[in-house]
Amino acid sequence: MVNIQEQIELFIKKCRVKNLNVTPQRLTIYRALLSDGSHPNPDAIHKKIIQEHPTISFSTVYKTLEAFERTGIISLVNNLHDTMRYDPITKQHHHIICVKCKKIIDVFDEELDFIKIPQSVTDGNRLLGFKVHFNVICSNCRE
Ligand SMILES: [Zn+2]
Ligand SMILES: [Zn+2]
Repeated sequence: MVNIQEQIELFIKKCRVKNLNVTPQRLTIYRALLSDGSHPNPDAIHKKIIQEHPTISFSTVYKTLEAFERTGIISLVNNLHDTMRYDPITKQHHHIICVKCKKIIDVFDEELDFIKIPQSVTDGNRLLGFKVHFNVICSNCRE
């Protein structure tokens, strides 16, 4: 679904626009998030990169992800979770979330992208976006 090289180029462009220096550390952290389809939390990303980059601390990973999120380079999945889970895909998509193991799976579906927004949502509000979350008990957890 995602072309890594294209995404990296886009990432570099976005950093420039947002006045964020593209440091090797930031690139490493972004790359780790990008190559992980599980919507990982900062801890999981840190565990992933310390093998090759033992000098990158957890707080660096944590703060970097926060900075990426603040500038709109990545997004935060903030539903049903007690930890922050990050998503490298900022293009409109939806999620299947297992309420037991907290696994998050991407759903790309044009029909969902164009659902009719209830008037109560837009009444007086400016709609910034929406996501459909399907809460499930996944096949692994059902066993
Ligand atoms: Zn599950
Ligand atoms: Zn996602």
